[in-house]
Amino acid sequence: MSERGTFDKASVRDAPVGGERVLARVDFNVPLSDGDSGPTVADDTRIRAALPTIELIRDRGGAAVLVSHLGRPKDGPDPALSMAPVAARVADLLGAEVRMAPAVVGPEVEAEAERLDPGELLMLENSRFEPGETRNDPELATALARLADVYVDDAFGAAHRAHATTEGVAHLLPGYAGLLLEREVRELTAVRDVPVRPLCVALGGAKVTDKIGVIDRFLETADSVLIGGAMCFSFFRARGVETGQSLVEEEGIALAEHVLERAETSDCELLLPTDLVAGREFDAATEVRELDGIAVPDGWMGLDIGPRTAAEYSKVIAGAGTVLWNGPMGAFELEPFAAGTRAVAEAVAAAPGFTVVGGGDSAAALAEFGLADRVDWLSTGGGASLELLEGKSLPGVEALLDA
Ligand code: ADP
Ligand code: MG
Repeated sequence: MSERGTFDKASVRDAPVGGERVLARVDFNVPLSDGDSGPTVADDTRIRAALPTIELIRDRGGAAVLVSHLGRPKDGPDPALSMAPVAARVADLLGAEVRMAPAVVGPEVEAEAERLDPGELLMLENSRFEPGETRNDPELATALARLADVYVDDAFGAAHRAHATTEGVAHLLPGYAGLLLEREVRELTAVRDVPVRPLCVALGGAKVTDKIGVIDRFLETADSVLIGGAMCFSFFRARGVETGQSLVEEEGIALAEHVLERAETSDCELLLPTDLVAGREFDAATEVRELDGIAVPDGWMGLDIGPRTAAEYSKVIAGAGTVLWNGPMGAFELEPFAAGTRAVAEAVAAAPGFTVVGGGDSAAALAEFGLADRVDWLSTGGGASLELLEGKSLPGVEALLDA
């Protein structure tokens, strides 16, 4: 496949990694589950996505010091959020030893890093065990820089954060883009800037405030924007429609009103649901009712788009040259309310156009329906993909060397 989109940063392919120690920032923020002997990795998609970069570094004779955050540890080190189970999974996948560092930085970690021979791997502890990580503390960045000669960033999912491991350290070591980060930026930039038309953007999920920047941008540039998920209730409230007990983000109502106004003069078609599936409660065993309209009666909550809406959205998706989908159409975790998301996922999978999916829950839905390998690009970044798509620059990318 020829390379899409533009990318103006230096690539790991051109980095002098032979014989060097490389600090590789990866996004190994993976879900864990309880195993017989402590936590294990429940889904290794993000780990697999970074393996080509790690393998490239090893093949070229570099040693890799891997660093990632994992979850949100509150006050310093939390054994439940250690990177040890992640290191074990990386070792399994690569068939190579991955040593586990006792901390993120410090003299002991430096000694471990210095001992690395070409091709060897060391995993640092959870970067958020250091309070300086999210503060982008220069002292932490300096301590990280002492561990390596070269920096490679493959953590696209964290590239919208200016943290010590994603941004600070990139100013202290020569910084190169990993293969995954580069591909993510290329694919998403192509959709944003040079889509094959018509461009259809399908947005769902819980909150308008998460996605307002993307809606705003694509009202200018897309041919159609399809709205689903709980987000649609902010739009309905802005129009004075009854929403019953549906999840409504109050803050989103004014934003939705503004979007509705702009849509009137925009060339982009803004589509909202015309029917819904409702339940009494957010529960798979609740009483279920199809509503032939969008008014939700008192005592009910809208939990999915209805079959007519799903069919209409599927038709638009099928006719698009490019489809971007972010956010489930309903509470797909509950089987009675999964049909709308399943229909859209199937339409995206079957679409003849170029298809891109972003967002953790949308990716999870695709995987659950067995359709993950049927889309052209499945982004590993939720917040980062949204920020790139709305036109913001990503600090983790900006800090790398120019090509
Ligand atoms: P993504 O991770 O793909 O960006 P979001 O995190 O924005 O998606 O939203 C996903 C969540 O939205 C899911 O947990 C889903 O249950 C919820 N959701 C979608 N539609 C509804 C609805 N009508 N009512 C309540 N929750 C909903
Ligand atoms: Mg989510």
